[in-house]
Amino acid sequence: MSAPFALALHGGAGPIRNSDQSRETANMGNLLEDGRAMLTKGAPAVDVVIAMIQGLEEAGFYIAGKGAAPNRDGKFELDASIMTSDRDSAGRRAGAVCALSGFLSPIAAARAVMDKTPHVLLAGEGAARFCAKAGLTRVDDPQNYYTPAASSLAGTDALAHGTVGCVALDTSGALCAGTSTGGVLNKMPGRIGDSPLIGAGTWADERVAISCTGQGEYFIRAAAAADVSARMKYAGMSVDAAAAGALADMERQGGDGGLIAVDAGGRIAMPFISHGMRRAACDGQGNITVSVFR
Ligand code: ASP
Repeated sequence: MSAPFALALHGGAGPIRNSDQSRETANMGNLLEDGRAMLTKGAPAVDVVIAMIQGLEEAGFYIAGKGAAPNRDGKFELDASIMTSDRDSAGRRAGAVCALSGFLSPIAAARAVMDKTPHVLLAGEGAARFCAKAGLTRVDDPQNYYTPAASSLAGTDALAHGTVGCVALDTSGALCAGTSTGGVLNKMPGRIGDSPLIGAGTWADERVAISCTGQGEYFIRAAAAADVSARMKYAGMSVDAAAAGALADMERQGGDGGLIAVDAGGRIAMPFISHGMRRAACDGQGNITVSVFR
């Protein structure tokens, strides 16, 4: 029997109940079929996470990549991170960018930081200079390229609605998590949330991989992603209990959102405390489920 694999995606927490999410669910289902095919053929978790997040970034349906919303100055500043670990704890790697302008795929930029620099996080101007040198695809005309997915939320008091993320376990036992976002709506210039911060919005070690979505300030104060792993490590919790516990701690601070997690045995947890969370999962038997509300 081949080794187990598992894969999950999210397209952000906070969709309003009864809103039509059919485009997003079809998009996530199609992407997962591609991801399942990649994992079945033995693709590394990191390649699958990048491919899934790029598919979500390109769709323009989420507040990430093409669908990102501008900040209060009308500028598009995007954030992303990726972390991966071998079965062996010595193999952890991570990369991230924040307040990045002018490049098509923030998650590709995060991967380039991981693969090509000794650093974990590059910000703003320096990140853009690095991306240009690394040959990443530019967005030459931001005002025409971005189609803010958030325009349908105008007039609501919604803050966070469409970060995207992915977690995967591959057949070698490697785990990977990635997150990409345009941040919260109407954000201050320079504002950075949890998504590009390793340990807050994204984490992957030899035990579990996590990607979070929601009001980033609360996830940062809870170190939410790393807290899932810590609960498993020190308290011997299952991924379900650890994910629920980390989210409850974040909620006690007054925050809102959800997360996806996959452990080294291929078990998937996708808890959320908002109205809904766009989410999709493919288990070790290859069964795909896509949902938004409870
Ligand atoms: N967590 C993201 C941020 O605070 C927003 C989101 O998940 O939608 O930037």
